[in-house]
Amino acid sequence: MNDIKLALLGSQGAGKSAVLVRFLTRRFIGEYASDTNSLYHKRLSIDGRQLNLEVFDPCSQSSEARCILEEPVDWADGFVVVYNINDRTSFTDAKDILRQIREDRVDHCKGEMEVPVCLVGNKQDLCHARQVLEDEGRGLAQENHCYFQEVSAAESYQDIANLFTQLIRQVMEH
Ligand code: GDP
Repeated sequence: MNDIKLALLGSQGAGKSAVLVRFLTRRFIGEYASDTNSLYHKRLSIDGRQLNLEVFDPCSQSSEARCILEEPVDWADGFVVVYNINDRTSFTDAKDILRQIREDRVDHCKGEMEVPVCLVGNKQDLCHARQVLEDEGRGLAQENHCYFQEVSAAESYQDIANLFTQLIRQVMEH
């Protein structure tokens, strides 16, 4: 497969655009326009394979997962679900989003998720204000059979690059 489509989901302010821009440009840019849906393209090479990556970053006007999910759920080959470790509501939204992905994209014969998903706890640099324990994130990921990583879009590129690479590898193997 040469074309890979990923979608970022999560409540407004969780840092979806920051995580994505960090991956695409290696930079952290403080403020992003989040009032439009954005589709990003990048050519990259993973394990010697040339890929066209498309990433959908939906505008998240509301923290209601159902609203956030409307478009990309059928389109994407893989999902990055982002919450803010300093905002428990965003973690609750992430739970809802994972449940909805499972409902929409589960292989009913195998009982498994049809699409690879990773769960990301963002804003690790602000962990003095933490509201969600790392173990809670890990537990939610285990329940949903998905990869989990806490990251800081503000401070680190490597963790974010690793998680996108892992997810893309899973999509390629799928
Ligand atoms: P989105 O609505 O989920 O796309 O969230 P944004 O990417 O627009 O980020 C919301 C706010 O959180 C912005 O002010 C970002 O600068 C800030 N932000 C995003 N990621 C981080 C992070 O890792 N650490 C800190 N301190 N701030 C962040």
